[in-house]
Amino acid sequence: MPIDVDVVATRAELAIPEALALLGGYLAIPAISCEDAHADDVRTLAAKVRDDLEAIGLDNARVVELDDALPIVFAEWLHAGDDKPTVLIYGHLDLQPVAGEIWRTDPHQATVVGERLYARGAADDMGGWVSHMVALRAWFEQGGPPCNVRIVIEGEEEIGSPNLERYMDGWPDAFEADAMVLTDCENPSPDVPGLTVSLRGLLEVELTVRALDADVHSGLWGGMVPDVSTALVLLLGRLLDEDGRLAVGRVEVDEARRAAGGRVPLTAEVIREGAHLRSGVPVLPERGVSAAEWMWWQPALTVVATTLPTPERKKNALRQAASATLSIRLAPDQSADDMLEALCDVLLASPPGGVEVSVESAGALGAGWLYTPRGPAFEAADRAYERAWGSRLVQVGVGGSIPFVALFGERFGDRPLILNGVMDPLTTAHGPNESMHLGIFRKAVLANIYLLDELAALGRAGIRTT
Ligand SMILES: [Zn+2]
Repeated sequence: MPIDVDVVATRAELAIPEALALLGGYLAIPAISCEDAHADDVRTLAAKVRDDLEAIGLDNARVVELDDALPIVFAEWLHAGDDKPTVLIYGHLDLQPVAGEIWRTDPHQATVVGERLYARGAADDMGGWVSHMVALRAWFEQGGPPCNVRIVIEGEEEIGSPNLERYMDGWPDAFEADAMVLTDCENPSPDVPGLTVSLRGLLEVELTVRALDADVHSGLWGGMVPDVSTALVLLLGRLLDEDGRLAVGRVEVDEARRAAGGRVPLTAEVIREGAHLRSGVPVLPERGVSAAEWMWWQPALTVVATTLPTPERKKNALRQAASATLSIRLAPDQSADDMLEALCDVLLASPPGGVEVSVESAGALGAGWLYTPRGPAFEAADRAYERAWGSRLVQVGVGGSIPFVALFGERFGDRPLILNGVMDPLTTAHGPNESMHLGIFRKAVLANIYLLDELAALGRAGIRTT
């Protein structure tokens, strides 16, 4: 007899307090992947998660560890039948560091304040994959999930997944699936679920200005000899519009995406609070382009380092050279070469005061990604999310680069990739007081349950037809 999905959902909701206790236990382990001192914490957590996946009912739960890498956890359950799709669930158990951050609560002790649970990793990404554990456990209690399931929980996402491809090569079976649910992304608000469909790429460029062979007295020569510092500032100014945004290399965004961007509930208040804007500083004007488009689909510039004189190096001199490191977020489908060419056209033309200007880049540091979610699996996701959240799934982007997503996109882009998560604009992932909204966690659990039910109904043959 088929399992009643509503019974599964009810059971899962009742199990949420227990799930939060389980999550609290995981969050107490400082599995910080970028600090060698915490490598054993990553291993401890991986072993614990393995045990818990096995206890829930998954088969072949194992921790695998390559040389010079942190471990990864695999588990599976393949008894739903050959005609049912295999769904891979991805999450990561490692954490960002907390050193230097000021927290209101202990970052490694889950603390509920109001509607949010605070701890490093609460939403990025432990709450994400724990929401799948709660859903699967409820399915197992009723006899088993309706789809075949594989689980991959990585231990190196926060350091850029440097060994994920080696794990994919070494254990290809562990990644074999008809659809993938990659859970490490954001929702536009606690009321609106997000489906992530794009990432921006990353390009780093060194802009250098040279004028003199030695530093010279500014009182003697200032007025007839260029100052590299001000020339550098003038050059930077060429790249910007009246609002200070990058004006070079903008891309055309198609009508459908434009319209989707307009529906994202990214209000000035959300941006103000999420980005910690000071009270007197306004959000940049939209100027006919949605906030979503500015943050996800257009390129953006940040100066991340300069060799301009610092207070300790202050002296009354004209300097020989000055440079700035420009971090450029590329539009999702923009090539680093195109952007570099656009920058050179502007920066190298008639230099201010005739200074020598050079623009150098080692190429893209992160790949962008632009995905079109089409086909029955996404219609299934739409239904599942609307049922769980009471609100339609909205397509969203990520302004940064996520190496694991680009990698999954490259290797498995021919099958449905459903990118979800439990973050929202107030999560402050990677910063102090990271938190997860408890209402989102509950709805994520329900959406996971309904999604497996919907994908199972499509069947293996139906899921990949586009
Ligand atoms: Zn993450």
